[in-house]
Amino acid sequence: MYRTHTCGELRIENVGLKVTLAGWIQKSRKLGGMTFIDLRDRYGITQLVVDASAEQELQDCASSLGREFVIQVTGEVLERQSKNPKMPTGDIELKIETLKVLNKSVTPPFTIEENSDGGEDIRAKYRYLDLRRPPLQRALALRHRLAQEIRSYLDKEGFMEIETPYLIKSTPEGARDFVVPSRMNPGSFYALPQSPQTFKQLLMVAGYDRYFQIVRCFRDEDLRADRQPEFTQIDCEMSFVEQEDVLNTFEGMMRQMFRNALGVEIANPIPRMSWYDAMDFYGSDKPDIRFGMKIHEVTDLVKGHGFQVFDSCEYIGAIAATGCAEYTRKELDALTEWVKRPQVGAKGLVYIKCNADGSFKSSVDKFYSAEALKTIAEAAGASAGDLVLILCGQKRKTQTMLGVLRLEMGNRLGFRDPKVFAPLWVVDFPLFEWDDETSRFYAMHHPFTAPKPEHIEWYYSDKKEDLERVCANAYDFVLNGTELGGGSIRIHEAAMQERMFEILGISKEDAEYKFGFIINAFKFGAPPHGGLAFGFDRVCALFGGQETIRDYIAFPKNNQGRDVMIDSPSAIDDVQMEELYLSSTWTPQE
Ligand code: ASP
Repeated sequence: MYRTHTCGELRIENVGLKVTLAGWIQKSRKLGGMTFIDLRDRYGITQLVVDASAEQELQDCASSLGREFVIQVTGEVLERQSKNPKMPTGDIELKIETLKVLNKSVTPPFTIEENSDGGEDIRAKYRYLDLRRPPLQRALALRHRLAQEIRSYLDKEGFMEIETPYLIKSTPEGARDFVVPSRMNPGSFYALPQSPQTFKQLLMVAGYDRYFQIVRCFRDEDLRADRQPEFTQIDCEMSFVEQEDVLNTFEGMMRQMFRNALGVEIANPIPRMSWYDAMDFYGSDKPDIRFGMKIHEVTDLVKGHGFQVFDSCEYIGAIAATGCAEYTRKELDALTEWVKRPQVGAKGLVYIKCNADGSFKSSVDKFYSAEALKTIAEAAGASAGDLVLILCGQKRKTQTMLGVLRLEMGNRLGFRDPKVFAPLWVVDFPLFEWDDETSRFYAMHHPFTAPKPEHIEWYYSDKKEDLERVCANAYDFVLNGTELGGGSIRIHEAAMQERMFEILGISKEDAEYKFGFIINAFKFGAPPHGGLAFGFDRVCALFGGQETIRDYIAFPKNNQGRDVMIDSPSAIDDVQMEELYLSSTWTPQE
């Protein structure tokens, strides 16, 4: 047996026990005639000690050990003289009787401790060393726990885990595909799935009425906002269901995940909000409802006082920043500059200070009486001590800017505690989005999403205004201002699907080429069905209270889409190129 215990296991009750441990040396130090060694494995750290009375050979061996050497030691568990209450094993130490070096290590390029001294790049290059650090081990352990909870819940609910292929044809998620050349089919390419969407719908046609898969998906997108080119979805589909059934099933899953992995009870039921309310009151389709400070429309109250900027705009909205009336001139100027940054995009910012003494002070005082300011402030939901922040412009754009400003003020005010969890379903999305540039409709979710049954008439109407108000039978799961998942009830009738392609301007030939197999399958008795998918990496990060998903993926890519550890992507040799019938005209840029 290599070890009788792990390095995180021994406690005061084990004093007197003879044990064998194996692990990595985190550090060793000499103190007087004694050598102390911290031995680490993924369960914790145990202090080892060689005292001055030990045989010379053992003392010499102990002093020759370097960081990250792998050793095996046998000895007796002793109560420590100076205990360390911060460590679970801090009451004991192991007095080494025999020591065997199982493997040496070259000096690692950074410290392998809770907080490393290594920068991001070097840690990415030596990811396997970074993965030895406790924060990453905790992250992967949480990911594992959540995956087990998902499997146990869905199994209990009758779902079958079924794998779908990776070498497929383009999927309808709307990002760029990664493609793989086919050697056996010269000139042809597979696409890697952006999601198993079409396959899970085919499984419904095949009668597997409850499917799930924790599955890798691939999207060739720009990787700005903490995205990965390959990421994992909890992908699910159900037959003979309505929206209500899907939401209830996955509320149950989330509840179990929170309860068993974090010991947290989430709201029951999880609140629901229409997309329209989300936009109107939070300026976002993924509202953070951990705090209020909602957006209020004040267009009618603000217009008509002679202030040209307001009088000529479509929409005026406001939020009341809690307790910020004491912002100084300098702070207000800085906030105005902040909203003018391209990431926010406002032209300017108007404020009303609701002073504690009941008076009002505004940046547009000369156009508004104290009474008018009071009315506006009240409509914005402000109380004494608050600072009303007003933006104006085109309705949805201004709401979005106010939404960004609201989150910023929420951050500044400490309202966005990562340990507080506020889940939300956003429902009733518009089915279509109109794009002015290309002058056509796009599917807000994907082209297999069904319209709400009560909007069918508008769906078949030729009028743009009618199509614009068709709501989708779609839903998103939002947690703390992040969209964690989404899905829809699908179209399962040929005529309705054809109408969808028609509205989206996809020709019959194009639809046939891209989705012919699924259109055809739907002729063989497709059951009513619907489903959803959660972004598993982001679920893990949010459960872990972190903003970035990278720590929750064992071997992630950097933001250029590179794996710097294995140096990929990289060139392939000429023989491979020829076998794949590929030629490259690309030359490295200066
Ligand atoms: N396939 C969709 C997505 O990846 C989710 C779904 O509709 O089930 O967003």
